[in-house]
Amino acid sequence: MKAAILREYKQPLQIEETETPTPGPDEVLIKIEACGVCHSDLHIAEGDWTHLLRIIKRPLIPGHEVVGRVVQIGEAVNNLQIGDRVGVAWTHWTCGECELCKEGHENLCSSQSITGATVDGGYAELMKAKASHALKVPDALSSEEAAPLFCAGVTVYHAIKKSGIKPGQRLAVFGVGGLGHLAVQIAKCFGARVIAIDIADDKLEFARRLGADITINAATDVAKQIRRLGGAHVAVVTSAAKAAYDAAFYAVRSSGTLMVVGMPAEDLSFPAIMMREISIMSSATGTREDVREVLELAAAGKVKCQVETRPLEQVNDVFDEMRRAKITGRVVLKM
Ligand SMILES: [Zn+2]
Ligand SMILES: [Zn+2]
Repeated sequence: MKAAILREYKQPLQIEETETPTPGPDEVLIKIEACGVCHSDLHIAEGDWTHLLRIIKRPLIPGHEVVGRVVQIGEAVNNLQIGDRVGVAWTHWTCGECELCKEGHENLCSSQSITGATVDGGYAELMKAKASHALKVPDALSSEEAAPLFCAGVTVYHAIKKSGIKPGQRLAVFGVGGLGHLAVQIAKCFGARVIAIDIADDKLEFARRLGADITINAATDVAKQIRRLGGAHVAVVTSAAKAAYDAAFYAVRSSGTLMVVGMPAEDLSFPAIMMREISIMSSATGTREDVREVLELAAAGKVKCQVETRPLEQVNDVFDEMRRAKITGRVVLKM
């Protein structure tokens, strides 16, 4: 099968013929139809995440927003059949037995495996996956629009659900990119009044089309404008820029929540935080239940990921565009 393979950090992925994986008894083989390109894939390929280098497989096939058809099943599999269309997320497998799994936080499982990081992912024609963690995709969604929901979609869905936002409350989304444009739509599903913040006016226009009630250009005094509205009950920061976290901190009203979803490029500091009873929370992907819920919202037409498709061979060009922040929405590799 053809695959894009990471051999050396900071080098282009190699498009090569490689051996088709053989599924184990509890696994399925998936003929991939679409795989989203996530910023995390680029970070892995660059070797940026020094805390993870120890566990990253190499050579590695990256990619963790995978949708395709089951073409082979292991002998112990009874929840899936050949021909089923399924998706695979960042969380490749969880033990079901550790404290975190048992408490419903399987996304934090202490012995999880990670698609496209500790095991091979979806930048390929075929991949194997655990049958327990390959989730059926609703018929109403195409494979390319479903794929990004397995990371970008579930990540913001889990974050917004976890924030405890209630109908009518103000939720500010910092950054209207791959994650942010989904956050605007998902926050509307939770009944929030959505304030979208970005540096680019065309992205603010895009956010309004997606249902944002108010948009604010990040070049202005964002925190002041949001405080004038009463402050945000929740600020969801999808950006890596320290300035976005600083603005979000002052935009959140007392007793509100700052939800860290992006990967801050610098250390953050929150001065005199105890004065306002603000919660700083972080969110890491989501559970299988979260994936199913966000897929249902998308199948009902309430959440739509903006997608551009490209062939597998162009993955290194897509990485370049990502480095230069040239991508709106999500790029999906179509096999
Ligand atoms: Zn991702
Ligand atoms: Zn576990």
